Amino acid sequence: MSFAADTKKELTQIEENACCAKSELRAILALGAFFVSVDGRRQMIVETENVATARRIYTSLKEQFDSRPEVIVRKKMRLKKNNVYAIRLPGPQAESILHELGWQGEMSDGPVAPECPLPVEDCCRRAFLRGAFLAGGSVNAPGSSSYHLEMYVGAHVLANQVLFLMNEFELHARQTPRKKGYIVYLKEGEKIVDFLNLIGAVQALLKFEDRRILKGMRNQVNRLVNCETANMNKTIAAAVRQIEMIRYVDHRMGLGQLPDHLREVAELRLKYPEANLQELCERLGNRVSKSGLNHRFKKIEDIAQNLRAGGTA
Ligand SMILES: [Zn+2]
Repeated sequence: MSFAADTKKELTQIEENACCAKSELRAILALGAFFVSVDGRRQMIVETENVATARRIYTSLKEQFDSRPEVIVRKKMRLKKNNVYAIRLPGPQAESILHELGWQGEMSDGPVAPECPLPVEDCCRRAFLRGAFLAGGSVNAPGSSSYHLEMYVGAHVLANQVLFLMNEFELHARQTPRKKGYIVYLKEGEKIVDFLNLIGAVQALLKFEDRRILKGMRNQVNRLVNCETANMNKTIAAAVRQIEMIRYVDHRMGLGQLPDHLREVAELRLKYPEANLQELCERLGNRVSKSGLNHRFKKIEDIAQNLRAGGTA
């Protein structure tokens, strides 16, 4: 099962108060339900490919409103041939449920009226977002290359409402057109964790955090490796500069003209162009310290600069 499906399964196992159960259902119906008339018979249908979500919708309609929905399973014709579960209610029964949930007026064929009555209580707002995720949500597995959680919402007004609710919880959600509707989405790992926490997907968030911390550690290791590479580059750059000036001094006056202690390190450097200071010290049997060696190179550099300026050593 995908991480998203696991997350949904977990969400459908949360036990809720009546207020929250209704809020969750409100979001599910707002995002997913539509009316159709066949042979003069009106029905409200909610479809989902997620079996746990289907069971949740069925139970909620039955328990909160004492209704008897019908569930129909069919195979999706194209693509992955997943099952599609359709939960159906007779039109008049569905309308009275929607009215009880806060919608007003008559319902025409097509999606349930786009503007949805929003809950006020904190617990119910979370439940609403849970329902929105169950109806239209998906989330990348925490190990995948990018963080992404989204909810597909058909109507623009409704997409704005979901966006508004999410950002009331400071989730930095954003919105963009997708297919015939909109997606409201999160891109920051931290905010995805916050959202999963908010809607009660504790197992999912723990899995997410595990992988996120691992990823963070990996990034840290990468940073250290980069840092090491940077240090190595510095060593190489210093060596290149030293070799250049040694060659210059050799060209202008010959290394033999240098005092013995400078000539020694100049020759050593030319012999071991890739060695760092530490290694050069070791080549000298540790007779000279790193700073002593540095000092000698500095002297050679002074000589080279003097020669460049037209003077003599
Ligand atoms: Zn509530």
